[in-house]
Amino acid sequence: MPWKCSRCGMDNDDRDLRCGGGCGGVHAETCCRLTTDHGSITIHLPTRIGRHALRRLTAEPLSTVSQQQFGIALEPESGGWVLRHLATAARVTRRNGEIVPVAGVLLQNGDQITVDRITVTVALGNH
Ligand SMILES: [Zn+2]
Repeated sequence: MPWKCSRCGMDNDDRDLRCGGGCGGVHAETCCRLTTDHGSITIHLPTRIGRHALRRLTAEPLSTVSQQQFGIALEPESGGWVLRHLATAARVTRRNGEIVPVAGVLLQNGDQITVDRITVTVALGNH
């Protein structure tokens, strides 16, 4: 769904989180959903994801996933949703097979985030 900027009224593509009109407007309703065959988590605010949140999304034991494993936040100044590995986590976080740095990576629709044996698929948009 295209969205209309609340600041300048410009119509924007749903993949763009920042208004293309340069007015500084952002897509306020945009959210980030993490999905598996078992369920999903929908994120609107900066969130730290760990063992407890992921337990809903898998039947696998999650004993190797840390209490706080990675962070996800909408950062319009960075261009969208940013995934950050948390330095305190015991195991790496991977995005599409690549190790996610603490500095973070910009998430794209369809990305796959993997921690140990659990993989979740990222869906960005209005949910
Ligand atoms: Zn605008």
